[in-house]
Amino acid sequence: MGEARLALVTGASRGIGRALALALAAAGVRVIAVARAQRALEELDDAIRAAGGEATLVPLDLKDGDGIDRLGATIYERWGRLDALAACAGVLGPLTPAHQATPGVMHEVIAVNLLSNHRLIRAMHPLLRAAPDGRAVFVSSGIVARPRAYWGPYAASKAGLEALVKCYAAEVAITPIRVNLFNPGATRTAMRAKAYPGEDPMSLKTPEEVAARIVPLLSPDCRRNGELIEYEAAP
Ligand code: NDP
Repeated sequence: MGEARLALVTGASRGIGRALALALAAAGVRVIAVARAQRALEELDDAIRAAGGEATLVPLDLKDGDGIDRLGATIYERWGRLDALAACAGVLGPLTPAHQATPGVMHEVIAVNLLSNHRLIRAMHPLLRAAPDGRAVFVSSGIVARPRAYWGPYAASKAGLEALVKCYAAEVAITPIRVNLFNPGATRTAMRAKAYPGEDPMSLKTPEEVAARIVPLLSPDCRRNGELIEYEAAP
């Protein structure tokens, strides 16, 4: 058997990123798990090890672009490549009229949802290129196609992300790398509960169901590139 595939997962402390980290580990992928919440990352590590997998924990605020660069250098020194990048981290920010969103809110939401993903592309591209078949998935949102009142900061950040990722995908089309966007739709997580506090979480699909749709997009078999892929329930 060859060496295990190596995947970097952001937002791995909870929600969709955590479920994806567990699903990848269960599929034999070695996971580099990024988030700020160290305790939650340690609990993820315990769960992955208990299932016979392996993880490397990276407590990092993704607003720290230099930290992302250092992570790229560390991955290069240790493994020389990265097979998969799954960018799940995100913040909702306050739901507010655009004319009341403060500059601080706009900076924070765009820094986490857009600029950090640019820094990841910048730092990880050479490593994805060094892999035989690098794959990347960036998690977006239906808000880009269907903007609505009070969602301005989040919608703007995700629209920027989609534009950036589609350009990047076009650039790598001539390489073995494949890059896509994924829209999970309403999912039972802390972010969704913040956006819709009155909703019954049990009426929503689980992060595990979403993760199961993202895993194939990170495999060498995925040939799709530059697409915005919507969650589809199993038939
Ligand atoms: P959660 O709030 O449950 O998880 C968000 C994750 O992002 C956490 O692991 C958090 O880790 C991480 N994160 C946030 N800010 C930072 C930061 N500054 N540095 C590092 N990590 C950070 O959200 P979901 O799982 O629901 O969301 C995952 C993705 O799916 C997001 O991109 C979201 O926009 C998207 N999405 C979700 C939908 C839903 O219904 N849930 C619908 C459409 C899209 P920590 O706090 O430990 O740093």
